[in-house]
Amino acid sequence: MIPRVRRIAALCALGAALTACGTAGGGRPAPAASSASPSAAGPPVLAPGPGGLTPVFEHGPRTRGKTVALTFDADMTADQGPRAASGEHFDNPGLIGALRELKVPATVFMTGRWAEQYPAEARDLGRDPRFEVANHSWSHYAFTADCYGLPTVDSGADAMRAEVQRAYASLRKAGVPKAMPYFRFPGGCYDRQALRALSGLGVTAVQWDVVSGDAFATDADAVVKQVLDGVKPGSVVVLHCTRSAAPTTERVVRTVVPQLRGRGYRFVKVSELIGQTAGNR
Ligand SMILES: [Zn+2]
Repeated sequence: MIPRVRRIAALCALGAALTACGTAGGGRPAPAASSASPSAAGPPVLAPGPGGLTPVFEHGPRTRGKTVALTFDADMTADQGPRAASGEHFDNPGLIGALRELKVPATVFMTGRWAEQYPAEARDLGRDPRFEVANHSWSHYAFTADCYGLPTVDSGADAMRAEVQRAYASLRKAGVPKAMPYFRFPGGCYDRQALRALSGLGVTAVQWDVVSGDAFATDADAVVKQVLDGVKPGSVVVLHCTRSAAPTTERVVRTVVPQLRGRGYRFVKVSELIGQTAGNR
């Protein structure tokens, strides 16, 4: 499968979950027929695979310069509300502050549950052009069985689609004006059935090629090493934006960013890597 990139008004393809769809064109709904036009505005997405299967993006081109995308999963699972209420922090304002201070663009994959817990932070991220906010499901339940012990989404394509649409609705309600048409599976777990379930939503599934290992890490140096050893041109690095489960991430970022810049890397958002993929084909 060779995914082709198309620039479409991808948010429109997400359907009813995204009423912000029409606002890009000056407040009027964009005509559906023009959504496939190469000149139509909208984030770059990969074209669907055979049979309309949701496309999967793992990294950008290796030969288009030293770019790297840091991605941060804002995880919160549906049943963690009581833990948040008792003082556990699923957000990480210090990390976001570090990214701003270091002038690092980044892509945040946010669960709908996180946006509901931290609406001001979600809105702040969604309105800052340095960041792009994408979809990490509503509940952070797994889309396959046996995924790192995560609870599993109810079986059936409708439940999977509803997870994505409900997350977009939560992001929009929190004040994220233009959530990206990118979806990261909870735990990164997917199979053909999950890709088929999400087909028609217009999303590109975004995985990664560098695992930072920041989840539940206590040794920042080990995470730093893993990132520095793993990054290649076009890499997508997965990290987390939650103090509770990834307490070293701010320190990791403060160390990794200057070192990668010293090696000639430029930080970009996932959309830029997907756009570069377009130019490569
Ligand atoms: Zn996650």
